[in-house]
Amino acid sequence: MGIVIAIDGPAGSGKGTITKLVAEKLGIVNIDTGAMYRCVALDCLNKNVMPEELDKIAQILEHIDIQLLREGEKQIVLLNGQDVSKEIRTERVDAAVAKYAAIKIVRDKITPIQQKMGDDRNIIMEGRDIGTIVFPNADVKIFLDCSIEERAKRRYKQNTERGLNTPYEEILSSLIERNKLETEREVAPLVKAEDAILVDSSKLNIQEVTDRVLKIIEEELNRKGKKI
Ligand code: C5P
Repeated sequence: MGIVIAIDGPAGSGKGTITKLVAEKLGIVNIDTGAMYRCVALDCLNKNVMPEELDKIAQILEHIDIQLLREGEKQIVLLNGQDVSKEIRTERVDAAVAKYAAIKIVRDKITPIQQKMGDDRNIIMEGRDIGTIVFPNADVKIFLDCSIEERAKRRYKQNTERGLNTPYEEILSSLIERNKLETEREVAPLVKAEDAILVDSSKLNIQEVTDRVLKIIEEELNRKGKKI
């Protein structure tokens, strides 16, 4: 097994951006586990399968094929052979994904796939339960937190830049709802692992968070006598 760096935290904490930058700097593979849950949600939505329909979800999971590929800087996500990289980021999937991700049979299918990804290479994996469930023995665990208002502000700015004009209040209430679902669910809730190092990004810019995360990784690996 290679070196595993786990980064967990809520939606909008900047995990995706930071993980990508850190992976580039260290020259290792980054894995966005949220994209896998987004694929499950999209497959179910496309087939009109609701989160309560567990038998139908089990059938979908039996045949689902998710691939995370890299094309230069870009991550390409294939669901059953089709490029869904854009579709999994739509409001429709945003609004539904946490409900599908809270289902035990969904996690039982996805977690082992993620564990296999760390078998033979160094990885940095970001999600909600990487340091607690997927890799409880990860070499470095970081919990990236951020105030919910700042997270909503960032999402609002991102949307405006993309030409979307969802009101700030709507973004905030949807983040609050997603947060509640993720922290209160029975399986794999979003929680800081006891031995994870907390980084609060509320008052830091991207460069400052990246630098802090890189420093923590360096210190933790040194402490364990490991090298990338
Ligand atoms: O990180 P991102 O917002 O893309 O994740 C999408 C959804 O997938 C989250 O809202 C969460 O419900 C779920 N998720 C999860 N466990 C992970 C990663 C994501 O439950 N490790």
